[in-house]
Formats: sequence, C-alpha cells, structure tokens
Amino acid sequence: MAPCHPQSPNPASGHWLRLLQACGANLLERLYPGRCVLCLDPAPAGLCTGCASDLARPGPSCPTCAEPLPFAGDCPSCQRSPPLLDAVWAPFVYAWPLSHLLLSYKGGGRPQLARPLGFLLAEHLPAIATAGVERVIPVPLHERRLVHRGFNQAEDLARVLCRRRGLRVDTGSVTRVRATPSQQGLSRRARRANLRGAFAVSGDLSDERILLLDDVMTTGTTLNELADAVRRAGATRVTAVALARA
Ligand SMILES: [Zn+2]
Ligand SMILES: [Zn+2]
Repeated sequence: MAPCHPQSPNPASGHWLRLLQACGANLLERLYPGRCVLCLDPAPAGLCTGCASDLARPGPSCPTCAEPLPFAGDCPSCQRSPPLLDAVWAPFVYAWPLSHLLLSYKGGGRPQLARPLGFLLAEHLPAIATAGVERVIPVPLHERRLVHRGFNQAEDLARVLCRRRGLRVDTGSVTRVRATPSQQGLSRRARRANLRGAFAVSGDLSDERILLLDDVMTTGTTLNELADAVRRAGATRVTAVALARA
C-alpha cells in the first residue's frame, strides 16, 4: 500500500506562492520599465537615489575583514592572526529592503534585478576598492547549483561592476569542485571545515592583484577559502567585495 503522510506540508504550494510573487513583481517591472524596483519612481538604473540612500549603511568596521565594530581599526581576530584577505568592502548592511531584493533576485526568479543591484554596487563601492585590480573573480557556484538556479548572482553583479569600471571579469580560472552543504547555522569552525578544498584554480595568477566578489558576506569563510586558493595560484594581493554584510 502506498504510504500516506497527511501531516506533510506540500512543498509545491510554497513553490507556487514564490512563483506567483515573482510573476507579480515581473509584471510590475514589465509594466513600468525604467522605474525604481522599490517605489516605482522614475529610475533609469532600476533603483532611485531616494530608495538607495535609505538602505542601511555600515558603521565603523574592521578595514581588513569588514566585521562591524564599536570603534575604527582592526578587529581582535585580524590582530591575532593575519587574514587571507588584504581588505574587504561591503557598502551596505544586509537588512530590509535590500535583503528582500537579494532574496527575490536569487530565489524568486527575478534575475533582471542583477542590473539595479550591480549599479548600486558600482555606485557605492569606493574607487580605492578597484584601483590597480587586474581581474575580478566572482565566487563560483558548483555546477549542480548553477543548473538548478540558472545563473550565478555573484557573476552577474561582477559583470555589471566590471562594465562600469572597465575591469576584467574572470569566470574561468576558478571552479567550485565540491558541492558544499548550506553554511547556515554552522559555527565559524564548522563553516571552514565545510568549505575546505571547495575551490580549484586552473589558471596562473602569479603576481596579480585580484578582487573577489560575492553578493552577501556573512562570516567571510567562503571569501577566505577562495582567497586561499587564489593565493596558492600566485596572486600577491587579494581583496574582496560584497554588496552587503550580514
Ligand atoms: Zn525608489
Ligand atoms: Zn578584522
């Protein structure tokens, strides 16, 4: 007899709800092109200056790892052991409504949000973050995740940023060779163990200055693991940028 699970939630209903929400947002974006994705005011870049200036910006933070701090200067962790990243920039805090935009971009079938989010990053990332950078490497997704999602959000943001700043985006030198389980809820140590050996570099990055890029930075474990792989391939300066710091 076929097993019966009357209590099991129907995963399809959540899927349909997300799909409906995405369709609604997509319809609005089609009906009002050139409008702000948050307030529908005219905004050629997709996000108006008023909404962009309302997004939460970080207070004092560690210049090396972007950890929020009550004071300006290196955090105790960076003072104890030199990190693999030379500097990290995150122009925004991962908070509503930016968190909502990022979530609906990645999970809600609104890949067209790459443009306004990429413009937002290009607009608010200080010039020093890209000065002297020889290539920008977005955090790669594992092939399986890429097939499931259909796009790599970090790669899309990197393409917009690089077009705006005249930089080279490199999506071929690094691959994610291990499909790592979600990092959510893991301790810092468990996150590190989870990601060990996740990235493989095929190109020669000798003496290069590399900027790594991710959409959101939480503890920085992913970016640090990627920085380690890139340094082993010869890079001399490795910095990172994320649109938002969680
Ligand atoms: Zn707006
Ligand atoms: Zn730090």
